[in-house]
Amino acid sequence: MDAEIPIDEESAWAAVTRRDKRCDGSFVTGVLTTGIYCRPSCAARHPRRENVRFFGSGAEAAQAGLRPCLRCSPDEVSREAEAFSRALAHIDAADGVPKLAELARAAGYSPHHFHRLFKRMTGVTPAEYARAKRSRKVERSLAINRRVIDAVYEAGYGAPSCFYAEAKGRLG
Ligand SMILES: [Zn+2]
Repeated sequence: MDAEIPIDEESAWAAVTRRDKRCDGSFVTGVLTTGIYCRPSCAARHPRRENVRFFGSGAEAAQAGLRPCLRCSPDEVSREAEAFSRALAHIDAADGVPKLAELARAAGYSPHHFHRLFKRMTGVTPAEYARAKRSRKVERSLAINRRVIDAVYEAGYGAPSCFYAEAKGRLG
């Protein structure tokens, strides 16, 4: 992220309170009382607003003496997004349903870790997605594809879409 763009704290806090995955990678939430920083979508209980400071990146938060949260691994966001898109490309290019180990290798993760990551991002397992893509049960297939497309969208965008989503919500 461009460090020249100041963080709109009000939008950032709104994103944190709704655990907006689209904002992951746009900024991190530093909690001064615990000394930890999180991605905006962290599932942990929300800190009090007055204890929060926003940083443009994990590196900036670390410089301020904070440590990455073990629960949401805020420094993993861009690596996860890349791994995810590599795995999707692999599924799309495959003839049948690719093996989990094969997909994990393409993504650069262990099979266990990759399975968890994919499920967390899309709500379905890699095998469910791969099968749905080849399924003749059109409705189910469409619903699963929709969720994966949303996940791709969420993983693929940084700050602009994060705050754009917020602005759009206000207008709507
Ligand atoms: Zn966290």
